[in-house]
Amino acid sequence: MKKRFSTETNCIHSEQETEVNIQGVNTPIDPSSAFQYRGFEENVYPRYYNTINQKVVVEKLVALEKGEAGLLFSSGMAAISTILFSLLKTGDHAIFYQKIYGGTFSFIKTEFEKFGIEYSFVEGNEPDAFEKEIKSNTKIIYIESPTNPLLDILDVKGIADVSKKHNLVSVIDNTFATPINQTPITLGIDISLHSGTKYLGGHSDLCFGAMVTSKELNDKVLKTAINQGGSLNVLDVYLIERSLKTLDVRVNRQNENALQLAKFLENHSKVGKVYYPGLKNHPRHEIAREQMKGFGGMLSFELKADGIDKVNNFLDALSLIKPALSLGGVETIICSPALTSHIKMSKTDREKAGILDGLLRLSVGIEYAQDLQEEIDFALSKT
Ligand SMILES: *Cc1c(COP(=O)(O)O)cnc(C)c1O
Repeated sequence: MKKRFSTETNCIHSEQETEVNIQGVNTPIDPSSAFQYRGFEENVYPRYYNTINQKVVVEKLVALEKGEAGLLFSSGMAAISTILFSLLKTGDHAIFYQKIYGGTFSFIKTEFEKFGIEYSFVEGNEPDAFEKEIKSNTKIIYIESPTNPLLDILDVKGIADVSKKHNLVSVIDNTFATPINQTPITLGIDISLHSGTKYLGGHSDLCFGAMVTSKELNDKVLKTAINQGGSLNVLDVYLIERSLKTLDVRVNRQNENALQLAKFLENHSKVGKVYYPGLKNHPRHEIAREQMKGFGGMLSFELKADGIDKVNNFLDALSLIKPALSLGGVETIICSPALTSHIKMSKTDREKAGILDGLLRLSVGIEYAQDLQEEIDFALSKT
């Protein structure tokens, strides 16, 4: 029997391949797109998702997410679109949490109708809110926790239980939590997916997606994945393997830094609400504590002095922390959701969703927390 190692060890050691003649400690990169077929059981080809470099990385993710099988894709959206199209057909119905990633929301809104797929968005965050939306043709429940940008927390196990009870497939976008902080499959979720572009890559230099699930569901998604063709090139695949070795170290540091900054911001006179599931007064803190090992590197806060001018004064006063899109890298970055991800919504709709002009979202990196805190303190003095 294969020994089961801890997550920290699995980041480094799970499923490495060694080049037999040279015995280097890293998996060799095989750039081939043509493979000999005689004497092999399986035809190997990058778009069949079965090259050695793809398999090694997938096995590492499978060990971290505690699933059975998985796939790597060329982006988070390639993972999401392939998974949804493999599970849904004309006449089916799917249930989504209202506060999912904007790109997923717009994918559903622009593509589903063409294919005659019905959908509902759930506003409430309790499992019964999801159960109420189930119809005779419902096939999947799709959620995200924590959410972007207000760090709402869903009861992942409760929703997985509802899904099981009705024989549906449950899917979670686990990008914000990472498998270091949350392993949804152990809570009963069927498919855990990622925009690997964020924490799994972790250095703001890769774009990819990933999925971990059961063998059975993986076979189903793989058929569609081969048709859709959203596979990844080998050089990026190798960089993912390298990135995953430091995932545990990076994410734990990000958890610590984010908690320190959240506590600092919570007590700051120039700051309004702070959204971080690790704070005791977060309305869903208890649920987060039950289902997460750490609370993640994402947090949001409101400047008390509302208005875009004040946001700009604050951003202008920062130097280490850059206003940038995306998240999950080793460097701390900041963004104004009202001016970026939610700019297409009207101000009234944004405010209804809790996104004020003075809201800022911080993706906390692995720098020395005190340096970040001092810089934020200085910038707050300019608001
Ligand atoms: C960025 C992101 C995605 C989309 O991933 P890409 O790699 O940009 O395609 C999906 N879900 C979440 C939560 C994200 O943050």
